[in-house]
Amino acid sequence: MNREDADVAIIGGGVIGLFCAYYLSKEGKSVIILEKGDLKDACSYGNCGLVSPSHALPLNSPELIIKAAIWLFQKDSPFYIKPQLNFKFLSWMLSFALNANKKKVERGMMALNNILQLSRSLYDEFFSEQPLDCDWSPSGIHFVFRHEKSFETYRVKNEKLSEIGLIATPFTGNALLDKEPALSDRVYGSWFYEMDASLNPGKLMTELRQKLIADGVQISDLCEVEGFRKTNGQIKEVITNKGVVKAKDVVLASGAWSPKFEKQLDLKIPVIPGKGYSITLKKPALSPKCPCIFEERKVVATPWKDSVRLGGTMEFSGYSTTLNQLRLQTLKNVASDYLKEPFTEENGEEWYGWRPMTNDGIPIIGRSPLHKNLFLASGHNMLGLSMAPATGKLIAELITNQKPHIDISPYSLERF
Ligand SMILES: Cc1cc2nc3c(=O)[nH]c(=O)nc-3n(C[C@H](O)[C@H](O)[C@H](O)COP(=O)(O)OP(=O)(O)OC[C@H]3O[C@@H](n4cnc5c(N)ncnc54)[C@H](O)[C@@H]3O)c2cc1C
Repeated sequence: MNREDADVAIIGGGVIGLFCAYYLSKEGKSVIILEKGDLKDACSYGNCGLVSPSHALPLNSPELIIKAAIWLFQKDSPFYIKPQLNFKFLSWMLSFALNANKKKVERGMMALNNILQLSRSLYDEFFSEQPLDCDWSPSGIHFVFRHEKSFETYRVKNEKLSEIGLIATPFTGNALLDKEPALSDRVYGSWFYEMDASLNPGKLMTELRQKLIADGVQISDLCEVEGFRKTNGQIKEVITNKGVVKAKDVVLASGAWSPKFEKQLDLKIPVIPGKGYSITLKKPALSPKCPCIFEERKVVATPWKDSVRLGGTMEFSGYSTTLNQLRLQTLKNVASDYLKEPFTEENGEEWYGWRPMTNDGIPIIGRSPLHKNLFLASGHNMLGLSMAPATGKLIAELITNQKPHIDISPYSLERF
């Protein structure tokens, strides 16, 4: 690579990096994205495609910790921890448990709600300005329950979300089957969140990359960032396997890989990879009309024009790259249990990705406490697609010295 000069260098071409580039470019900044692979390496490529403000409650809760402990002993459960004596992982787990208290969860909910709401409205604005072909569907999402008891237990969560205006409509029996005929008669009911939406993330990434390139953004694939040259609290150069890149500002948007820069940046970035799986299959004749979350088993089915994606599981196995066939088969088994038409197809597109998990469920967005021209946009957990436009907008506002749209203090790295 020849020496490149840009106003902003973005490390990572996942959905967060792309939306940072979009809003920075709109502000008139020249941008280069440095991506070590190509779009398929990102967690953003094969996820379930939900744009979901209804997920404003952080995962940290005593109930989830108990459930997770039970799931550890089930082979086909949605949760797995690889036994490991890794200090970083153990301290992350301890902090996760300590964050599972009422006050912190309440604060977390407000922080997530603010960014999810901003993002949801930015998606509407974005698609009205950029009619990209990526199966955008603002049709709502069903949280589906096989059993009356778990449907009723969820009522408490729904009441909590109602306090911030996230109100779901309950459907049971024939009313549910009329609304969503693909669901099996075995299903008891669903909570329907009208404000949620969905899209095909692989198509969004492909189309957004093309739009950015047309707007003059440089995207350098197969360009791995290896280090930095710093002077006086500033990043002067970004060192890559293709040469040195100079930029006035640098954005770290490298998802689950972000902590790999901890030593070089003298920063503690408490993000660990939370592996999830998906399988994309041909759309059956009787397909769900909107995305369905089979909540008791934490499996998602998202329908698009020609296909359906099943996704889920949370595996803490470090940066493991194996595609566990049991987990992929479990996605099909669970979906077949909740739907009338079972998934028997052998040749689906199998995928895994590493979610960038923080121990409080809140992303890290803001200026580095140690470097004047480094900005962090990482740790988006299970909601990176949902929070991407707002993250991009906030980063662009910070870099162009504008007042951020929302209070960004809950997302600062200094909170850890
Ligand atoms: C099964 C599953 C389902 C999910 N479903 C949803 C959903 O429905 N809705 C939702 O909102 N979220 C969902 N998520 C979460 C979402 O996918 C992530 O939060 C989001 O993709 C994170 O985006 P990112 O850009 O931060 O990271 P990534 O998409 O992982 O992008 C980071 C990029 O940085 C690059 N990179 C890393 N290191 C370097 C380096 N040294 N040099 C250059 N480049 C580098 C990587 O190659 C990668 O492309 C799901 C996740 C999984 C696993």
